[in-house]
Amino acid sequence: MAKRISVVVSQSPSKNPAKRKLEEDIVAGLLFENGIDVTIVPNLYDIKPESTGMLALQQIGGNVVVVSWLFERAAHWILDRNSITGHVGQVLLKNEDEDEDEDDAERGGDEDDKDRVIDSRPLKNRKIYCLDLKISNRAEDFIEEVKRIHQENAVQVVGLGDIINGGVSKPAAAQMPTALGDTVSPPDDGGLDQSSVVNRVEESGGRRWYPVIDYSRCTNCMECIDFCLFGVYGVDAVDTILVEQPDNCRKGCPACSRVCPENAIMFPQHKTPAIAGSSDGVASMKIDLSQLFGAPAEGKSAEEIAALERDEQLIAAGREAVGMTVGVPRRHEEKSEQSKDDLDDLVDQLNDLDI
Ligand code: SF4
Ligand code: SF4
Repeated sequence: MAKRISVVVSQSPSKNPAKRKLEEDIVAGLLFENGIDVTIVPNLYDIKPESTGMLALQQIGGNVVVVSWLFERAAHWILDRNSITGHVGQVLLKNEDEDEDEDDAERGGDEDDKDRVIDSRPLKNRKIYCLDLKISNRAEDFIEEVKRIHQENAVQVVGLGDIINGGVSKPAAAQMPTALGDTVSPPDDGGLDQSSVVNRVEESGGRRWYPVIDYSRCTNCMECIDFCLFGVYGVDAVDTILVEQPDNCRKGCPACSRVCPENAIMFPQHKTPAIAGSSDGVASMKIDLSQLFGAPAEGKSAEEIAALERDEQLIAAGREAVGMTVGVPRRHEEKSEQSKDDLDDLVDQLNDLDI
């Protein structure tokens, strides 16, 4: 018997009909595949940790495919921050510009010997495959990729608990209680093969804005906690950085993502792909291309821009601006010089291209 796999479809936060249609076409296509359980949830990023939707996702065991409008990296680490952990599953349906192998995705792309938080972090022994709906407008592309992943995982492993209970347990999401204001539809299996199950979780929690940390890049340097003056960051019992009060973050502010020396902080709904979690070549460049193309503050370093953005939020909150005097380490002055050198090199390269 083929091993079951769960597919989570994370809906767009907008009600764009084209996006809804693509989501629904993918779900409809997967209904005819045996051994695939589909859970439809609102935008993953917006789901509150204690909500029925997140509880349903936390109950899913085994390998998971997540189909969302988020960049792969962003989707993976949003799940991780909600205790839905696993190793990065290799996805072949990618943006043509992305050429990153699995190891690179887990290690953050840097071949260096720095200690990363992920090295000391227990992960569940399973794979999480994140598919980015922005890559194609054809439902078949996603259905084929899910089928390929399902094939790749097609070795049935029956656990001791399954044997004792006399069979493989039903998808946990189908057994979730209904919380106030949330709805979990029962499995819609009427007339279909019993092995096709769809659960739909509906919640109306509204849009959120908070940073997401990529622990495969994070070195636990604590610069973000020093920089943020809104109490968003904290540390856990073993002094590892975490986003402790996500909803304290100022809507639209991406400031700390610019001061993180490892590019480990993402704002998945930011319009700039590099800040939203893109892993392609441009995003992983160490310099901020916004300095080249329509810089918000021309000629300024990423740290200076971040300080301006932070001041804007401090003033909006009725507090005093602090400029570069708080939470911006001196080493950024050197880094800033380095960035300017890198920028000069890039400009030279663009000139050489004669475009
Ligand atoms: S600044 Fe970046 S690397 Fe340093 S602790 Fe924060 S997220 Fe991690
Ligand atoms: S974006 Fe601004 S408010 Fe939000 S965590 Fe970063 S520094 Fe703090």
